[in-house]
Amino acid sequence: MIWRYPKYMEKFRCSAGDCTDSCCIGWEICIDPATEELYRRVEGKFGEILRKNISGGAFVLGKDQRCPFLNERGLCDIYIELGEESLCQICTDHPRFFEWFGGLKEGGVGLCCEEAARLILSCEPELSEETVPDEDCEGCDEELLALLLDARQEILSRLSKCSLFPALTSAAAYGERLQENLDRGELVLPKWEELPAAEVQEASWVEFFAEMEPFDPAWPGYLRRCGALRDVPEELSAELEDRLRRIGAYLIFRYFLKGVFDGEILSRVKLAAVSVRFLGWLWRCRIAERGGCGFEDQVEICKAWSKEIEYSEENLERLLDAAYDEPLFRNI
Ligand code: SF4
Repeated sequence: MIWRYPKYMEKFRCSAGDCTDSCCIGWEICIDPATEELYRRVEGKFGEILRKNISGGAFVLGKDQRCPFLNERGLCDIYIELGEESLCQICTDHPRFFEWFGGLKEGGVGLCCEEAARLILSCEPELSEETVPDEDCEGCDEELLALLLDARQEILSRLSKCSLFPALTSAAAYGERLQENLDRGELVLPKWEELPAAEVQEASWVEFFAEMEPFDPAWPGYLRRCGALRDVPEELSAELEDRLRRIGAYLIFRYFLKGVFDGEILSRVKLAAVSVRFLGWLWRCRIAERGGCGFEDQVEICKAWSKEIEYSEENLERLLDAAYDEPLFRNI
């Protein structure tokens, strides 16, 4: 099968004890059945500790929602005691994501991790491809997949070449026409139409995002404070716009092709467009609030947004649904 991923994925290294916001804190960590079985057979004192800290197929989180095996140096005791190969699937993979489409496997690293976010923001989203042994996976409609691969390529290439905000508006219109074709049962690519950037008031989206179930209880308040800021700059520098463009590429790469399973194309293009716009606005709010939005500010904001939206199934669905037809996001 073909394995495709952004080149920067190869550079990903977890910063472990140096991470300022470890993914071993605050998340429920489910253990896959094979690893749970392995943990059941670990002997000695560590085996006992392991079993005492597992309940209902997940680690029992400690104070401040810490994984019980995250030690005071920020390192993983399971890794230290049993080796990397004994980590459960979720700990082995995170923040990597994978998706299988018949004979195609794609993957990358997720924006919720600060090391991954640094790569996504700073590296060109070039894709690598290799042939790997087949893996068991669900099949999909190959004809639709081929069409969506072409459509995604068109969007990614326009995003990389054209001015960002007009490209986002044009991509949404392209997605809408592609959706119409598919809804009529026509597997036909629409023509790309160059449109001017839509006039968008991102501050009017604050309540929509603030009313979602938060991962961090401080998130809704933070958004509302941003919404109340005055003198938010209208534009971003070319450098920041370029970083936003890479986020757009990440989102289109990660989500667009999933439409092969449910036929939902438009909502995924608009998910990317709305998210890029909103993140750009949050960066502009940071400039209004603190006089600048440096690289680490950008990373922090992207990471927070990703945790709230991308890593909550419920919130991601909510945004996908709303992006499809809520008047709030009609004009993008
Ligand atoms: S968030 Fe990323 S860098 Fe931090 S501990 Fe998790 S994988 Fe490592």
